[in-house]
Amino acid sequence: MGARGEGAHRTLEAFIRDDLADYADRDFPADDTTSHLSPFLRFGEISPFQVWHRLRGNVPQNAKGQVGAFLRQVIWREFNHVVLFANPDLATANYRPEFDEFEWHEPEADVLRAWQEGRTGIPLVDAGMRELWQTGVMHNRVRMVVASFLIKNLLIDWRLGEQWFWDTLVDADEANNPGNWQWVAGSGADAAPYFRVFNPELQADKFDKQHEYVGRWVPEFGTDDYPEPIVDLKESRRRALDSYDTMRRKAGLA
Ligand SMILES: Cc1cc2nc3c(=O)[nH]c(=O)nc-3n(C[C@H](O)[C@H](O)[C@H](O)COP(=O)(O)OP(=O)(O)OC[C@H]3O[C@@H](n4cnc5c(N)ncnc54)[C@H](O)[C@@H]3O)c2cc1C
Repeated sequence: MGARGEGAHRTLEAFIRDDLADYADRDFPADDTTSHLSPFLRFGEISPFQVWHRLRGNVPQNAKGQVGAFLRQVIWREFNHVVLFANPDLATANYRPEFDEFEWHEPEADVLRAWQEGRTGIPLVDAGMRELWQTGVMHNRVRMVVASFLIKNLLIDWRLGEQWFWDTLVDADEANNPGNWQWVAGSGADAAPYFRVFNPELQADKFDKQHEYVGRWVPEFGTDDYPEPIVDLKESRRRALDSYDTMRRKAGLA
């Protein structure tokens, strides 16, 4: 067994050497250009300060332009931890109280199960959920897409998604997980606005055009064995926006 933290530092060095220069491509899930440091950070095998100071040191000439973008992601982690410190109930309570008025759908067991097991009939969502189930890891862009689908297209309370991620992610983190779920829901500190509903088909067109990532996790995609979508994306988007308006009215904001 290696010395404490050795794997984390090796991972950081390999990232700086091999992938940092391509960090601008980090949104493409089939590419492997991110650091994979999150489990090490989560379990204290390396500290954000060590990452920060290492990145301020020597990096390959062609990677220098990506240092700022990478450190901004690490700062999101710090931000979530500060928010958690001030809001210890971040995993259970809406940061923005108006979301207490949101009328979530009581999830039917088979719908929630279809999302958890990657059987929604929406290829990018299914690929992400299967990657998570099989490996404990999911690409950040896909995490945003599957979370938006659960919260907005299925109108299922973000807390149920947070719990599933908590149970399955190898980097499950008590600040980053609820912080990001609330970011997607629109209920968090400095969150994405609720009306920003990711369209998983457009996201796939943009970030997985050749179906490389989807094909890896959903081999039956494009065959008769692949299920029909469990929800109409257009209609469910409209329903989500109506629910948001209702919440705002009930909270006295509109
Ligand atoms: C719904 C949802 C749930 C998430 N749950 C977790 C979680 O439980 N644990 C977790 O560590 N991250 C979580 N994230 C954030 C992000 O997806 C992961 O940190 C990232 O995918 C880890 O891969 P990486 O280390 O290769 O990232 P890199 O791109 O290499 O980023 C470097 C580090 O910056 C931090 N970071 C990157 N993106 C974010 C972000 N959006 N928010 C906060 N910190 C970030 C992480 O510590 C990461 O290790 C979640 C994101 C979403 C949308």
